Amino acid sequence: MLWYPYTQMKQLEELPKMIAGEGVMMHLEDGRSLIDGISSWWAVIHGYNHPVLNAALITQVNKFAHVMLGGMTHGPALDLAAKLVQITPPGLAHVFFSDSGSIGVEVALKMSIQYWKNLGYQGKNKIISLRNGYHGDTFKAMEVSDDSDFTRAFADVLSRGFVLDIPAGGFDADTATVQAAADELEQLLHAEHRHIAAFIVEPVVQCAGGFNIYSPRYLQIARELCTKYNVLFVFDEVATGFGRTGKMFAAEHAGVTPDIMIIGKALTAGYMGHAATLATTSVFNSFLGENYEKALMHGPTFMANPLACTVALQSISLIESSDYLQRIAHIQSIIREALDNISSPAIVQKRTIGAIGAIELRDAACLNGFKAFSQQRGVWLRPIGNVLYLMPPYVISEQDLLTIINVMKEWIGQIK
Ligand SMILES: *Cc1c(COP(=O)(O)O)cnc(C)c1O
Repeated sequence: MLWYPYTQMKQLEELPKMIAGEGVMMHLEDGRSLIDGISSWWAVIHGYNHPVLNAALITQVNKFAHVMLGGMTHGPALDLAAKLVQITPPGLAHVFFSDSGSIGVEVALKMSIQYWKNLGYQGKNKIISLRNGYHGDTFKAMEVSDDSDFTRAFADVLSRGFVLDIPAGGFDADTATVQAAADELEQLLHAEHRHIAAFIVEPVVQCAGGFNIYSPRYLQIARELCTKYNVLFVFDEVATGFGRTGKMFAAEHAGVTPDIMIIGKALTAGYMGHAATLATTSVFNSFLGENYEKALMHGPTFMANPLACTVALQSISLIESSDYLQRIAHIQSIIREALDNISSPAIVQKRTIGAIGAIELRDAACLNGFKAFSQQRGVWLRPIGNVLYLMPPYVISEQDLLTIINVMKEWIGQIK
């Protein structure tokens, strides 16, 4: 029997069963169709069953579907690595592939810790992370994620580093507010930098932790502080990458380059699991030496899978050829305006950026019954805790977008 994720299997209800997809539509076995309001966990940015992506995959599958990357190379891996170096912030010049966002984070943290060891430092191995952050479900990723339902069962085996708060005040926070959060970072770095390998953040937007948006100015100051105190700065762009926040990568809001950056989710346009961890040449060079001692001893079986690389290349080319950033700006303006028209005493805060719209409600109980309600109205949404949000595929029409938001509005309107 199938064991579902994040599910109390004792309470498993009958689930909708998808049999086909097209554009933003998920067609179900019972004849209904749902508009996907969350891009299948934020990945399916071009929609389902995309003819150009399908064609690229078919061409590659007829050559070879997979080959190991150990001791062997191939075109799709070389081409995608070059493309990622070209489109990510300047200075990230080396690309390590893996098979999921969580593993991409593991690789980033291994790189960070071994970097200092390779340079001859001892005990410089702790990680700073942010409250409400989420970096994946594997063990080290859980250690740098905030305590939550995801980590609770393992609290006694997780070896925690340091946790800081994001600056208050949202994207446009005033200078003093941002500086206050930056001062806390500096105090910690000043006291503990000898033990700290890296500071990992989801830049600008913390997604699974509740869609908390913060000032890019904080990233600029943190960049300077990390350099000053000899600590690597790591951006987890697994959720924010590929246009989701209105820029190709959220790092661009701040105009800074992290030492290490992780991308995943939308990398393959949701076609298959894949991730990449990018590093600067200075990080990369610390791994050079005469033997394995300094090498990065990591290698997922399916890293740089040729199908994954092929579909990623084709997805990036779609983004580049059809002016997606303009499309995302349009989605943002529709979401902003429509969310402005939703009001209720149950709403704590509304937060929007790029193709993300989130409404924080009083408590999770406000959303009891929401999934069935939205599915009856032809919309696929999955709130996180007390946050109702949408992150639609970029190909969504204005009409479908408004249908989704109207379902959110109708639900919120009847909360007592
Ligand atoms: C989803 C997510 C991950 C984990 O990615 P998986 O592919 O699910 O392992 C890591 N970091 C962030 C920011 C994410 O949103």
